[in-house]
Amino acid sequence: MRTEKTPRIKNLVFLCCLVAALSAALVCVGIFNGFTYSMVTQENRENLRAEAYYIAKAVELSGQTYLESLDPEPGSRVTWIAPDGSVRFDTEVEAGTMDNHGNRQEVQQALTGGYGESSRYSDTLNEKTLNYAVQIGDGSVVRFSIRQSSAWAMLSKALLPTLAALAFVAVLALLVAAWTVRQIVRPINRIDLQSPGKSQVFVEIKPLVRRIETQNQQLREQMEHLTQEHEKQDRFRREFTANVSHELKTPLTSISGFAEIIRDGLVKPADVPRFAGNIHKEAQRLITLVGDIIKISQMDDNQVPIQREQLDLRQLCSDVLDHLAPAADRAGVRLYLEGDADVPMISGARQIADEMIYNLCDNAVKYNHPGGEVRVQVAPRGKDAVAVQVADTGIGIPKAHQSRVFERFYRVDKDRSKEIGGTGLGLSIVKHGALYHSAGLELKSTPGVGTTITVTFPVRPPQS
Ligand code: ADP
Repeated sequence: MRTEKTPRIKNLVFLCCLVAALSAALVCVGIFNGFTYSMVTQENRENLRAEAYYIAKAVELSGQTYLESLDPEPGSRVTWIAPDGSVRFDTEVEAGTMDNHGNRQEVQQALTGGYGESSRYSDTLNEKTLNYAVQIGDGSVVRFSIRQSSAWAMLSKALLPTLAALAFVAVLALLVAAWTVRQIVRPINRIDLQSPGKSQVFVEIKPLVRRIETQNQQLREQMEHLTQEHEKQDRFRREFTANVSHELKTPLTSISGFAEIIRDGLVKPADVPRFAGNIHKEAQRLITLVGDIIKISQMDDNQVPIQREQLDLRQLCSDVLDHLAPAADRAGVRLYLEGDADVPMISGARQIADEMIYNLCDNAVKYNHPGGEVRVQVAPRGKDAVAVQVADTGIGIPKAHQSRVFERFYRVDKDRSKEIGGTGLGLSIVKHGALYHSAGLELKSTPGVGTTITVTFPVRPPQS
């Protein structure tokens, strides 16, 4: 596995300082060396000329005797050349062995114009020779030459001190880099991440600080939202537990009371079946209530089976209406199933969808009048949804209660609901089921006219 090396500001700053410092140092060395070299050359030329005239004068006066008495400094040389170019005397080499010098540039110039000068490079010696020739009275030429190191040779002589200076510059760059990094990093590390806006930071860091601040704000808002949600859930649970206890206690108290009266022989034998019937009715209510509580708790804890299957909503509605037919008969309510037989299947949880449709239809029958109707319609809504609409001609729900009937244990008329075996959890189960299926839920009701509740199921769950 390839691991990325974490970059260090220190290395980067050091590199920048080093490159800048070394470049500056090298440029300085180059300029200084070039300047010094041209100064030295200039000075050497002037000395060469002065000495050449001096020596020429002495040769004119004393001839070869003077030259023989000369002891030139190392690197300097005097040559006496006859007008025909032959060498009369040389301070370094035997004159007879030397070739004719008449074609040398400085000699030619001196023979024609009285004086001449030239300079020549020797690649092998890495040296430059400066020559100055002067013609004396007898027409001969006296040439004085000195050797001077080339610019590179001079530079190489200064190599060690130059390298030492560059090393010093590198160390200095390291120290400057370390100091600079400290100055940059210290204020960044001092930023108070809780309220970065109050910290004194570099202008370049301000966008980062603003981003941290925005994120902090978002986090605070999310935390606040979560806390509120948590408190809401907590309140819900407490209320639910209190409601459940209360709802369980009422039928249990009735059951216990009826049983006690029978046990104590306070009921005439002819009335026993009626009391037993009451006990049975209350027990049935308890069973329904506990069943609904279990369903809603399972939905709360997401315990319902997550596997979805293809559901035929029309078939589900038809089954529910078959199931409710006896109760509807007893209540004198007519049931109708309407809409196209050919509606798209939806992806859903059968058990939950069945509960939803059952509760809606059950309410439509329960809160109806004798001779009333319940119409269940299953119809496509666009290409991606199917709506189940349950409309009744019952007592209706007053406007003030319409937004609350989906709450747990909320009933418009508690006594009537209990009388007909309601638990106050039916519409709450419908609401949970709609959430589970990401379905839309709409209630329209007019007291005395009837209620229509529509659930619009998406054909596919939104996440798939
Ligand atoms: P319940 O078990 O009491 O029926 P629900 O949660 O199913 O509880 O309904 C809550 C309340 O909404 C009911 O008590 C009733 O007052 C009202 N309600 C529900 N459906 C209808 C309807 N179709 N017509 C009139 N009122 C209804």
